[in-house]
Amino acid sequence: MAYPVVAIVGRPNVGKSTLFNRIAGERISIVEDTPGVTRDRIYAPAEWLGTEFRMIDTGGIDMGDEPFLTQITQQAEIAIDEADVIVLVASAPEGVTDADEKVAKILYRSKKPVILAVNKADNPEVRETVYDFYALGFGDPYPVSGAHGLGLGDLLDEIVKNFPTDDGAPKDDSIRFSLIGRPNVGKSSLVNALLGEERVIVSDIAGTTRDAIDTKFTANDTRFTMVDTAGIRKRGKVYENTERYSVMRAMRAIDDSDVVLVVLNAEEGIREQDKRVAGYAHEAGRGIIILVNKWDTLNKDNHTLTDFENLIRAEFQYLSYAPILFVSAKTGQRLDQLPALIKRVATNHKQRVQSATLNDVIMDAIALNPTPSDNGKRLRVYYATQVAVAPPTFVVFVNDPKMMHFSYERFLENQIREHFDFEGTPLHLIERARK
Ligand code: GDP
Ligand code: GDP
Repeated sequence: MAYPVVAIVGRPNVGKSTLFNRIAGERISIVEDTPGVTRDRIYAPAEWLGTEFRMIDTGGIDMGDEPFLTQITQQAEIAIDEADVIVLVASAPEGVTDADEKVAKILYRSKKPVILAVNKADNPEVRETVYDFYALGFGDPYPVSGAHGLGLGDLLDEIVKNFPTDDGAPKDDSIRFSLIGRPNVGKSSLVNALLGEERVIVSDIAGTTRDAIDTKFTANDTRFTMVDTAGIRKRGKVYENTERYSVMRAMRAIDDSDVVLVVLNAEEGIREQDKRVAGYAHEAGRGIIILVNKWDTLNKDNHTLTDFENLIRAEFQYLSYAPILFVSAKTGQRLDQLPALIKRVATNHKQRVQSATLNDVIMDAIALNPTPSDNGKRLRVYYATQVAVAPPTFVVFVNDPKMMHFSYERFLENQIREHFDFEGTPLHLIERARK
């Protein structure tokens, strides 16, 4: 389900990204080990005393050549639109500036809780000056030092205290999916085409405010929730056209989904931005389906489909598990197959296999292809067990985890895939030394 979202706002150089990295830091470095993932994050998972949430660094949402005041105004508006809790950051040594007041004025219009963090309060003398910041009108200022990690506990306590409470809405067992892809690939056309299918029954039960951005429907006797339909459809505000904003939006939708439909445009082929978007979905461990939209625009012969498929397999090697569907929002081609495919991928993503069968598969695999050895020492695999679903995660007990080479791990993964239907879901394999 959706995580609470915290947005960090404030004029440039007050230390927004330093605070962002401090609070989400550990998680970011884990994520960065995945190849192909951008380093400069504006959206990241974070956690405080067992409460998970998501953070947005609005300072990283660059509006191109817009003048300084327009940029901070738009960043503040994004925070109001996207966040459950807003953290306004100012700088203690510099005191209250005109730009701080400008941002504060925009935030007054929001009904969302705003917490004031006064950064660079690195020592007791500077901390004295935080009282000046009451003038901004957001109650108690929280002195912090992003650079030295001071005061963060109190700030985080206050952030978590302001998260919206669960309003007791009944638990929803529907399959949550999202459509992601760069602008113009046809996402909103696909949404409309899907909802227009005669087998699809759109439910009109008004949910919570948070749910209003989602669309619920039933198809093939299965309940689905299309995540962030509003975000796909709406178009108007200036910042909605910036790439970093749409990437942030896509990351949020991925986070809230069981299955992600990565939409490509057959007419334009594969672009760098497609790969980045798909990379986020893979890294988040969601079920993935690749949709090649606008299939109606190509002059096709016997090779067109296979050629396109080969191109996708070459360009998205890490997504070898993802099924590909060639569709057209315009003609409706193959869209009737989509609900069943989403359901199958969601089932695979949550699949739990029996340990006995799993171990038979692993032992047969080892008999087929002996484990690597190094300096007379051989990797020994003792036992494997599935420890989690969504995505399916396996712990493999071995004599020495360092001896598990990438290629052998890949071989074991492929053997598991040959014996169980894990189409559409990434698998995680973790090696542990047996004690
Ligand atoms: P942003 O533009 O608001 O995202 O600000 P940055 O995080 O990029 O920080 C701006 C500058 O302030 C950098 O040079 C940081 O090293 C510095 N800075 C950030 N936090 C602190 C802090 O707590 N104390 C001090 N002294 N400097 C800081
Ligand atoms: P989004 O930005 O990803 O939501 O893309 P839109 O749904 O707004 O579509 C962008 C453009 O592509 C619009 O002009 C659509 O009419 C067109 N389009 C979308 N899907 C198809 C399709 O399957 N075939 C053709 N020929 N055009 C399409």
